[in-house]
Amino acid sequence: MTITPQAPAAARAVPVLPTSGPVRPLGLGQVSLTGGFWGVRQSVNAAATLAHCESWMERLGWLANFDRVADGTTSPDRPGWSFSDSEVYKLLEALAWEAGRTGDQGAEAAIKRLTARVARAQDPDGYLNTCFGHAGQQPRYSDLEMGHELYNTGHLLQAAVARLRTAGEDDLVRVARRAADHVCRTFGADGLPGICGHPEIEVGLAEFGRATGEDRYVEQARLFLDRRGHGTLRDIPLGRAYFQDDVPIRRAEVWRGHAVRALYLTAAAVDVAVERGDDELLRAVQRQWERSVERRTYITGGMGSRHQDEGFGEDWELPPDRAYCETCAGVASIMVSWRLHLATGDVRYTDLIERTLYNVVAASPSPDGRAFFYANPLHQRSPGRPADPSEVSPRAEGGTRAAWFEVSCCPTNVARTLAALAGYLATTDDDGLQIHQYAPCAIRAELPDGRPVAVDVETDYPASGTVRVRVAAGASSPWTLSLRVPAWADGATVTEDGRTRPVEPGMLTVRRAFQAGDVVVLDLPMRPRLTWPDPRIDAVRGCVAVERGPEVLCAESRDLPEPGGLDALVVDAGTGPEPDGGGARVRGRIPAHTGRGWAYAPARPAPLAELAELAELAELAEEGGWFDVPLRPYHSWAHRGPTSMRVWLPVDGAPRP
Ligand SMILES: [Zn+2]
Repeated sequence: MTITPQAPAAARAVPVLPTSGPVRPLGLGQVSLTGGFWGVRQSVNAAATLAHCESWMERLGWLANFDRVADGTTSPDRPGWSFSDSEVYKLLEALAWEAGRTGDQGAEAAIKRLTARVARAQDPDGYLNTCFGHAGQQPRYSDLEMGHELYNTGHLLQAAVARLRTAGEDDLVRVARRAADHVCRTFGADGLPGICGHPEIEVGLAEFGRATGEDRYVEQARLFLDRRGHGTLRDIPLGRAYFQDDVPIRRAEVWRGHAVRALYLTAAAVDVAVERGDDELLRAVQRQWERSVERRTYITGGMGSRHQDEGFGEDWELPPDRAYCETCAGVASIMVSWRLHLATGDVRYTDLIERTLYNVVAASPSPDGRAFFYANPLHQRSPGRPADPSEVSPRAEGGTRAAWFEVSCCPTNVARTLAALAGYLATTDDDGLQIHQYAPCAIRAELPDGRPVAVDVETDYPASGTVRVRVAAGASSPWTLSLRVPAWADGATVTEDGRTRPVEPGMLTVRRAFQAGDVVVLDLPMRPRLTWPDPRIDAVRGCVAVERGPEVLCAESRDLPEPGGLDALVVDAGTGPEPDGGGARVRGRIPAHTGRGWAYAPARPAPLAELAELAELAELAEEGGWFDVPLRPYHSWAHRGPTSMRVWLPVDGAPRP
């Protein structure tokens, strides 16, 4: 099979560009964010996060590792984990999207600066890794289970895809070609029969194959996928499910093991299925998505219920306090769902992307773009300590955003996602334009027959639910404008030509010969709403969450009586929630346990008013001990400083008078 090389053009600059599919993603040259919730985050990413990441990698010696290989001064005391090279490549990917998006000369200079150091470290045969294969290091590919060599290369290829699609062939792309060729020679059909313990090479190779038009890279990705799941890697104490080597991906029923590994592998499986017309593989992935999203995914879209292996739990195992929900798993989930959407056109996938963007990706970076959440629990029991901006966090969890981590995969993953975000907002098909995510933006594209589709999206979503799509260029013949109506949006309406009509969740379509100045207005209901969990999620049985639009809300202890207010809080699910700015209010009260020195008693917890020790709370209490509990978007939790927090709120079970 041959595929046509994809011409470098900023217009087509997207992270994922399948050769075929019902819809085609619009690129960074076709969609420009012009502000709003995501525009602000993208600007902060460009202005602060990219340089922040580079300075930390310099400080910790992760960049100097490349110099040591080039200079022949490697030794066993190399700083950083075996995957630290990948952080440099993810930063390069983010810089490439940013330079392609804006032409920013600072980003361009950083790409050249970093590429030069990386290129010097490449061995003559194309092998490129700073942790293996040189003096004082383990031999190449001697620890496929945990060594991350091919994982690193996969991220190099994704960086090169970003560069190729935004700027064309350059030194970074040439380095990547030599590295990819080395992988194909070493692990091809006649080569070593191994795979990498951390999937990523597969998704990197598949997209690099698309971007370069070299099908052998896609074929190598297919080989890696098919080799996996047969006990190809050595067993480890966590078991082979940890790296998805327990069951072939075509036969797997659900995502399991390390969440980021499972999701990167799945993203590659969609790519290979699409490029090979492999419907069996595509259907297998769709089945895994359905069961995993139903039973192994948090209300935030977060994935990963266990800390010990950063992994998925069993079905319905979704403890809010022990949620891992790594930021990278959120990014990887978006990678999978976007590929599935491009392969099927199904809006369920773009619905999950919205949920994950607002409640995992947006939760990670601090407003200044210089600190990050790694784990994203739904219940923080004790306030973290204020993070020291000059300190490396040794742990993934902690309750406050950290400047950097010993394992610092998440900041660069957020950076590359925000820089490329315009590539996830809209698609076209032969008949029109589909808008999936709502942000103020300008869209300038053409249909395959040359008809222009040019619209400006005006909205302050999710502050409000009004999305105004204004046509910027007329067309002589009809085309179809499609707008995603999220699954939660019961009561949405659309207004066109002065007429308003209700619309159902799914894809709303308006077809006509649009004229410049035509406006279609989608109104999404933003009143906060209660959301109840499936009773099989026993960890949150008897609780409700409050959502507003795409945002999950949470309660923070700093808004409640201390000490212990958040621990004992129960809420009234019979009234409200009421709108409160960008959040909500619910009625809550604080019953207390009457036991002393023992957490169990034969009697129901007593109402607040009967407890002298909590008398200070009476100031807050209205009749019956009820008071208003403010809820704020989960993504902004701990923005005001250390706090405990919970998303799932226990429902008051007291008998009503
Ligand atoms: Zn991570």
